[in-house]
Amino acid sequence: MQSEAPSLDVIHLIWLTGAGCNGCTMAMLCASAPGIEDLILGNVPDLPRVVMIHPEFSMESGDTFRNNLERAIEGALSPFVLVLEGAIPDETRAGDGSFSRLGITPNGKPITIASWVDRLVLKAEAVIALGSCAAWGGIPASHGSPIAAKGLDDYLGQDFRSRSGLPIINLPGCAPTGESFIETLTYVFLHLGRLVPIDLDDERRPRWLFNHQTHPLPPRVEYPTAVGSDLTNRPTVDCSVPINGWLRNFGGCVRVGGSCIGCTERDFADRYLPLARPDRVR
Ligand code: SF4
Repeated sequence: MQSEAPSLDVIHLIWLTGAGCNGCTMAMLCASAPGIEDLILGNVPDLPRVVMIHPEFSMESGDTFRNNLERAIEGALSPFVLVLEGAIPDETRAGDGSFSRLGITPNGKPITIASWVDRLVLKAEAVIALGSCAAWGGIPASHGSPIAAKGLDDYLGQDFRSRSGLPIINLPGCAPTGESFIETLTYVFLHLGRLVPIDLDDERRPRWLFNHQTHPLPPRVEYPTAVGSDLTNRPTVDCSVPINGWLRNFGGCVRVGGSCIGCTERDFADRYLPLARPDRVR
């Protein structure tokens, strides 16, 4: 006999920031209809009210903020979804310091983002890697980066499963649109409430957002000259922006005459970013 759907009236959204630019937070704030404020106010039918614990938006700071994270680790804020924005630096390279921290221990040691991730993922119903840095490492993981960062996909491994049995949900992009984040969050909540299945592709991305291809082709340069390649072999990347735009179907990198730099792809900084600056390609 199928068990009843769990009550999901309120859910905590715990946000951690690793090595990144906070662009994913900014993009998230741009979403509307619904926006994050609608979720926080509990205005969206069939979705739980969201209590957001975010390093920049929470009213609490310092020890009080970190105490919320400790409570989540102890199970007092269940259920919660963990969102990571930014990559996880290799702290072994930081000497006595740290590259990314949230607090210090009583004896003065940094509490790194990696250590918060290690403890929070054990209790999270779902884990979302928001943006290419969190998913694949992004620019902080590019060749020559002194912090040798990793995305969650590498850091936790592809066999990771959250408490509800979900893999890391990757939502790459630099930054992914706020609408795609809210849409993904909506599906995660409905999935946790056992109302819908969540459809992820082989890269554990929301399949419906990554089934449109675009070309990382700067429109104002001669591609074969720039990279010594052939147009017929030009790479394609998966991205919903050419179809959905940046915001409410407005904008979009190549739609406005800009360059697609393949920002949703693994290693995009090393593989595609030079296409935007062909004068730097050697
Ligand atoms: Fe990134 Fe290209 Fe998509 Fe723009 S169109 S968001 S650069 S993958």
